[in-house]
Amino acid sequence: MLSVVALAGGVGAARFLEGLVQVMPPEQLTVIVNTGDDMANFMGLYISPDVDIVTYTLAGIVDPKKGWGIKGDTFQALEVLNQLGFDTWFALGDQDLGTHLARTAMLQQGWPLSKATQVISKSLGVRCRIIPMTEQWVPTRIVTDVGLIHFEEYLVKRKAQDAVEDVIFDCIDSASPSPGVIEAIKTAEKIIVCPSNPIVSIGPILAVPGIKEAIMEVAAPCVGVSPIIGGKPVKGPADKLMEGKGFEVSAVGVAEIYKEFLDVLVIDKTDQPLAARIEERDVKAVVAQTLMTTLTRKRRLAQTVLKAAERQRPKS
Ligand code: GDP
Repeated sequence: MLSVVALAGGVGAARFLEGLVQVMPPEQLTVIVNTGDDMANFMGLYISPDVDIVTYTLAGIVDPKKGWGIKGDTFQALEVLNQLGFDTWFALGDQDLGTHLARTAMLQQGWPLSKATQVISKSLGVRCRIIPMTEQWVPTRIVTDVGLIHFEEYLVKRKAQDAVEDVIFDCIDSASPSPGVIEAIKTAEKIIVCPSNPIVSIGPILAVPGIKEAIMEVAAPCVGVSPIIGGKPVKGPADKLMEGKGFEVSAVGVAEIYKEFLDVLVIDKTDQPLAARIEERDVKAVVAQTLMTTLTRKRRLAQTVLKAAERQRPKS
């Protein structure tokens, strides 16, 4: 049976996965999601932003304009919090709050994060398997010119305005992959790196001890999609974070970050002139339309990625 593993962040990954589940049986897909963005105690709640974006998208209930939250959600609870004098910099919709309350209650009764994730996603009708990369809390913190701040604070509260000096994956060395992660990688026929932020979405997944090593060991081909098109991210601060970590902001920079284990990088047509520099890094470049503005484009990109994995012979 064909099995596919996808490494995913939030919005960019979810857009891609929406197409992928339409061109392969979703039951054969395992999505390993970044939890470096998680907030363990925000207003008393455990919030897992990337897991929720992927879950809501694959359940068909995501707000399509924002790419996060639930379509048609209201924000009345947040308004009350505001009136009561709380700093409501992280928007939580009323329906969305239901998810956070449920997850927090499950964790408080002793369930591991992966079980809570599975129960929520199955209840919402998601047919593929969504696994958080780890069950330990491993917050991504950004070293900025104003100090060390949690990634969500950097992104949402401070709107990515601060100069990035470094990125830290707190407690990652003592974390272990969630149950099922290594098994899924070991039995996968294809491994996909979604078009996600390579530093703060895919970076933490690869930093969980054992995950990158498992990907490097298996024979399954690994294909990525560049989130950088024409030297810029489609959305979000990937440019600032790549720069902060000393990488070129381009599809070449993405190939440089993944070159240890990546066989193929799907790059946008705009970036065709970069193909030779990518291939110098022993990563094959496949050129395609990678801007996922419609469902048809998402589907086509997913098909291109699956085909690229078929044609690819694994790195020896
Ligand atoms: P986040 O955690 O919500 O920021 O989500 P991700 O890390 O999964 O996605 C952010 C990345 O997705 C950004 O670097 C974007 O450039 C990329 N992205 C968003 N939409 C598209 C798209 O249509 N095509 C490509 N190639 N990348 C995209």
